[in-house]
Amino acid sequence: MVDSLEAIVATVTKAVEKNQFISIAGGRHAMGCQQFGTDTILIDTTRLNQVLSFNTATGMIEVEAGIQWPKLIDYLIETQKNVPWPQQWGIAQKQTGADRLSIGGSLACNAHGRGLKMQPLIADVDSFSIVDANGKFLKCSRLENSELFRLAIGGYGLFGVIYSVTMRLTPRQKVERVVELLTVDKLPKAFEERIQAGFLYGDFQFSTDDQSDDFLYRGVFSCYRPVDPAIPMAEAQKELSEDNWSHLYYLSHADKAEAFRQYSSYYLSTSGQIYASDTHQLSIYLDNYHHELDHDLGSEEQATEIITEIYVPRLELPSFLAEVRDDFRANKVNMVYGTIRLIVQDEESFLGWAKQSYACIIFNINTVHTPAGLEHSANAFRRLIDMAIKRGGSYYLTYHTYATRVQVETCYPQFAEFIRLKRLYDPEERFQSNWYRHYREMLGSQEANTYSVKPLVWDVKASN
Ligand SMILES: Cc1cc2nc3c(=O)[nH]c(=O)nc-3n(C[C@H](O)[C@H](O)[C@H](O)COP(=O)(O)OP(=O)(O)OC[C@H]3O[C@@H](n4cnc5c(N)ncnc54)[C@H](O)[C@@H]3O)c2cc1C
Repeated sequence: MVDSLEAIVATVTKAVEKNQFISIAGGRHAMGCQQFGTDTILIDTTRLNQVLSFNTATGMIEVEAGIQWPKLIDYLIETQKNVPWPQQWGIAQKQTGADRLSIGGSLACNAHGRGLKMQPLIADVDSFSIVDANGKFLKCSRLENSELFRLAIGGYGLFGVIYSVTMRLTPRQKVERVVELLTVDKLPKAFEERIQAGFLYGDFQFSTDDQSDDFLYRGVFSCYRPVDPAIPMAEAQKELSEDNWSHLYYLSHADKAEAFRQYSSYYLSTSGQIYASDTHQLSIYLDNYHHELDHDLGSEEQATEIITEIYVPRLELPSFLAEVRDDFRANKVNMVYGTIRLIVQDEESFLGWAKQSYACIIFNINTVHTPAGLEHSANAFRRLIDMAIKRGGSYYLTYHTYATRVQVETCYPQFAEFIRLKRLYDPEERFQSNWYRHYREMLGSQEANTYSVKPLVWDVKASN
């Protein structure tokens, strides 16, 4: 475990001397094995968790990269407890569904949350500092080492150890949750109307009951709009406890109709509640919940959910989900939970996944951990990617490595060039992981630069 910049430099320098490889882990939540590498030294950033500076005039905060979202949010709330609401700063977005994710890990995948008009996290990053493959400390921003800035954000830990990140905060606001039940055919228009009406965040959580006409069709549409900061936030808001969540997890496997009924009625009962724009993005995640679940369900084999995120042009959403519905029923895919959000195009990160302003559909698929069970889910993911590709869509690289070579090359035509640049910055391939080795083997043999990357003219004013 490293706990300072000096410790990172010393670890990298020693690895260079001994010709060892390095992997980097933050919250260890990535699921494609990008934080681990066989026979590599593992740099664990958990103890790099301090706030280094906070400028209350500009809303810029510099943190060590191992800090996780709850600590950062708590710090901001605590240091601003005597500051009136309209002058407080907060984070713009974080991942939903899990909280103990590090800022370094979030930069590494260029994460996104449930903002309705937000680009991925790179838009919230002013600069970062990194220790490269020679043990050299570098500052990266849109003005300084800008190519490395574009490569390392969304670069899966392959360009060095990010030591600190300066983030652009946003005014902290009170927001009202507005909930309704809706069907996916009405969703693209409904999202558009919410955006026009000034809503900031939102998502749609759909039914996973394949016995019902609601399957991947009807869902809970929840959006959040800013309200007058003078409106009080009730002390005792309705919220789900860990036990409630645990029961819902059980129902989502054992009785999906009842899970949707209970979940939607809870959400509808919270319509009108006031939340803070940052803490409403936090959520309960029950570690290792599947152990207990497998026992309660009487399963003979161990299972987990594997997530995938698929992107399609927004107007393609209803037709895409209609095809998925037929496919999942025909192939007996056990869908446990799913949600739809909006993605806004990102032209900054090199290995960017938000190539257009897509609709993002998240699937949690129950996967039995036997060779046949894993292959069953892998095939489902591949079919989903094909359904997206034929509509001009794509998928997120973060969650697994099941995509075929053709799928990777179609959705990420810049990937071979990304590997070439990685080897230019890090000729010994000091920073690596099993995730990297997978793609290196799949794509790295293409020596020709087949992809020409559009150079960016940075908006200098925007980064000042
Ligand atoms: C339940 C769940 C929900 C999720 N929800 C979302 C979501 O809503 N939106 C979304 O975008 N993603 C989501 N994710 C994916 C998640 O954002 C990524 O997997 C993220 O990278 C995990 O961060 P971590 O701190 O756990 O990183 P780790 O798993 O520890 O590492 C992930 C990657 O980050 C690199 N890394 C970590 N720290 C550093 C550093 N200091 N310097 C350089 N590289 C570093 C590692 O090398 C590795 O490549 C979710 C994941 C889970 C498990």
